[in-house]
Amino acid sequence: FNVPVAKNEPVRTYAPGSGERKSLQAKLAELRSVEVELPMIIAGKEVTTDRRRRIAPPHDHQHTLGYFFEGDSSHVQMAIDAALDAKKAWADMGWQHRAAIFLKAADLLAGPYRDKMNAATMLGQSKNAFQAEIDAACELADFFRYGVKCMTDIYQMQPESSAGIWNYNEYRPLEGFVFALTPFNFTSIAGNLPSAPVMMGNVAVWKPSNTSVYSAAVIMEILQEAGLPEGVINLVYVAGPVAGEVIFSHPDFAGIHFTGSTAVFQNIWKTIGENIYKYKAYPRIVGETGGKDFIFADPTADPQALAVAMLRGAFEYQGQKCSAASRVYVPESIWADVRGRFEKMMGTVKMGPVEDFTNFVNAVIDEKSFDKLAAYIERAKSSKDAQVIWGGKCDKSVGYFIEPTVILAAKADYETMVDELFGPVLTVYVYEDRKLDETLALVDQTSMYALTGAIFSQDRYSIERMTKRLENAAGNFYINDKPTGAVVGQQPFGGARGSGTNDKAGSVFNMLRWTSIRTVKETF
Ligand code: GLU
Repeated sequence: FNVPVAKNEPVRTYAPGSGERKSLQAKLAELRSVEVELPMIIAGKEVTTDRRRRIAPPHDHQHTLGYFFEGDSSHVQMAIDAALDAKKAWADMGWQHRAAIFLKAADLLAGPYRDKMNAATMLGQSKNAFQAEIDAACELADFFRYGVKCMTDIYQMQPESSAGIWNYNEYRPLEGFVFALTPFNFTSIAGNLPSAPVMMGNVAVWKPSNTSVYSAAVIMEILQEAGLPEGVINLVYVAGPVAGEVIFSHPDFAGIHFTGSTAVFQNIWKTIGENIYKYKAYPRIVGETGGKDFIFADPTADPQALAVAMLRGAFEYQGQKCSAASRVYVPESIWADVRGRFEKMMGTVKMGPVEDFTNFVNAVIDEKSFDKLAAYIERAKSSKDAQVIWGGKCDKSVGYFIEPTVILAAKADYETMVDELFGPVLTVYVYEDRKLDETLALVDQTSMYALTGAIFSQDRYSIERMTKRLENAAGNFYINDKPTGAVVGQQPFGGARGSGTNDKAGSVFNMLRWTSIRTVKETF
């Protein structure tokens, strides 16, 4: 099929004094100056309740951006009913019309809604302009456009036929509804998780994280404006366990599309198992969960490239990417050089609110996250196995600010080398050059996760050997680059082990999970 060619949305730079910067700043000021009210959207209708929850920027928690209306189990039930009511018409709709809605949504997002989408992400999730741009504007538009391409690529995957026999695959949606449970850290992921199944003809109930409701509401507004029929995606704001109780005991539960913590995903998997006799079909379970992503350098590594990767990989969006570099292994012979370069660059890094575009680091998402990170940093300060060599200050008086922090660990299994922290804390382990092989083995063994990882080397034999030795340690593996920033259509994203089902967001592999194929054989 000749669908419009999917191309990555060009990233804006928001250069000082540029029209695009002024326009985004004006939108930030506008969103700050009004108190928005965000209802749930069920069957295309706004639904309010008597429980209003306040939304505040994590970097300025006394400022009120607005309120969302929290629902209960009756709203989850309403959302399921609305999805099932909408199902037949949506599944029967020609794929061209489903595609058109998402292509239009991508254009709305990249055009008239770009500032609003970015501003809601910046204020609601404390993400700076550049990080919001690559996520909320570009990556989400990419997910929509590549999703359409993947859908049509799938429809063209057909079996062989032979004389007198015609075989074909029908790519039907799953029977029932899909539940999308989405994270705060990427607006694009929050938008993609309900949308990918829906493109394939499914209907969805969508529960975003309570800490990113503002951007979720804007995504829904865009999809509605693009013509998404009522009931196809139903957006509910409820506590996770409340949603889970209704969803996972429902006979029409057909699958979950999840990004979030490993513990929550494991619990969901268990609950689905316990309810398995209730369902019409085996539910599809697709999840991206935690990470403890590594950078491993050998003695030939380019020290400058390594220092840049440490800084950007660990501290962009305050390290709150599942893909963020959080443990680095550096050989003794180059450590002094790497450290000097890294510290020189760190000296230029500014932290503060997103409204000032010169701030590279902003606040972490909420008080719970702040307290957890501050506790790890405090323990490191007094541990005999660790030394805080950069940053370490934490202040939640105005916003949840954690200074970008570097911990030097004396042991490769020091707690911050092992635990997922999900914040701006990088731990460095310096190894003796002659112990390269055993340290490489530790990279693989130290973590239960396998999401992203990077190696740095200028020796091709070494690159080949490390790539092979670490083949199970990361679903997205980077050679001489930071382990973050996968681009839709270029690096399909996902990890294995405790990091998820590795179904590769933004690819046909993921989209194939949202169809139940009927193979038809006709004999003439
Ligand atoms: N896809 C993102 C990246 O490559 C990470 C996604 C996540 O944090 O879940 O940086």
